[in-house]
Amino acid sequence: MRYGPMLVCTKCGERYDLSSPIQRCPRCGEPLQLDFARGSVRKGRSVWSRFGDFYPDVHLNMDYSMGEGDTPLLFSRRISRKLGNDIYLKNESQNPTWSFKDRGTFVALNRAISLGFEKIGVVSTGNMAASVSAYGARAGLETYVLLHSDTSMDRMAQISVYGSKVILVEGDYGTLYYESIGIGTRDGIYFMNSDDPFRVEGYKSIAFEIGETVETDYVVIPTSSGGLLRGIMKGFEELRNSGIIDRIPVPVAVQAEGCAPICRAFHNGTQVERFDEPRTIAHAISNPYPPSGNEVLRLLKRYGGTCISVSDEDIINAQMDLAHEGIFVQPASATVLAAVTHLKVRGKKIVLVLTGSGLKAKMEYHGLIYQCELKDLERLLEVIKNES
Ligand SMILES: *Cc1c(COP(=O)(O)O)cnc(C)c1O
Ligand SMILES: [Zn+2]
Repeated sequence: MRYGPMLVCTKCGERYDLSSPIQRCPRCGEPLQLDFARGSVRKGRSVWSRFGDFYPDVHLNMDYSMGEGDTPLLFSRRISRKLGNDIYLKNESQNPTWSFKDRGTFVALNRAISLGFEKIGVVSTGNMAASVSAYGARAGLETYVLLHSDTSMDRMAQISVYGSKVILVEGDYGTLYYESIGIGTRDGIYFMNSDDPFRVEGYKSIAFEIGETVETDYVVIPTSSGGLLRGIMKGFEELRNSGIIDRIPVPVAVQAEGCAPICRAFHNGTQVERFDEPRTIAHAISNPYPPSGNEVLRLLKRYGGTCISVSDEDIINAQMDLAHEGIFVQPASATVLAAVTHLKVRGKKIVLVLTGSGLKAKMEYHGLIYQCELKDLERLLEVIKNES
């Protein structure tokens, strides 16, 4: 019999000592997670201090924080009226590197440092690479980012600016995820990939902030690797187990039609299988073989949730709709608004998790832009006024 904090397999329940840096179950290959935490909400400015009870197994050194979390939860009157539900927008674009990935990076970085690592790394093409690069810089660690060789220059610029070592790797991206963990163990690099158990711990804080504010019926989550959905649901579970909320909201996983391995498995009642030739404008959620996909399926089943896939056209429309509400998100994040109409519910409280900023992605569409000389400005204003 072993006591103390443990890593537990999400599938077979096997328990592993927390002192070893393993991220997946050596017995069945499924992802590991920390034991459920319990506690109460304390007074404090940051989510990390208010919910400190829920992080008993990792020392969160605030010197490495850049103010991640504590993002706005906005009620949208216009979208609510249009959809016949109370729609709340959790605006994660307000994080230090403009996506929710910062919450997970902050906790995983503390984990890496507490294990004595001086090098960190990540396999990612976008938001997570930028996030790990920034936090690695902040903590003064050597940071390795493994990108697929077809990553665009735009995105490379946003990642490399922080001074991390960016390596373009030829070969299968899914395989790289698994290989990197082994390589990291041999070379002393802590790879904090998409569904690292401590990254998932960081994502719990989104549920904490929602739970403090609104008792929601649904939480709608763009889903790729599955780490985000796992974190949010673990957070709600811990709040319920601690008596802070009464019930756990129904999770809705959202994917793009052009890359929907989890939705396909959900509707066919199978395990997650690789999605061939992914093709969508929602790049940030286009993992064709999600490492936490099966755990997402288990969570959807446990909490009566569902998986909804949406078309690129609907994504672009939803992106514009949100922009007209004052919030510019990337296509991956706009999927959640596109998905609500497919939910077919009325009069419910629904939180949409807007995962990342639109300024990160290349725009596929933008509004009309006018141009004129100064002397013609008033005439142009007249014309525009009459147009609308
Ligand atoms: C990473 C990411 C997601 C999906 O998160 P997973 O943990 O991979 O499921 C959704 N939206 C954006 C903008 C992301 O960067
Ligand atoms: Zn297992």
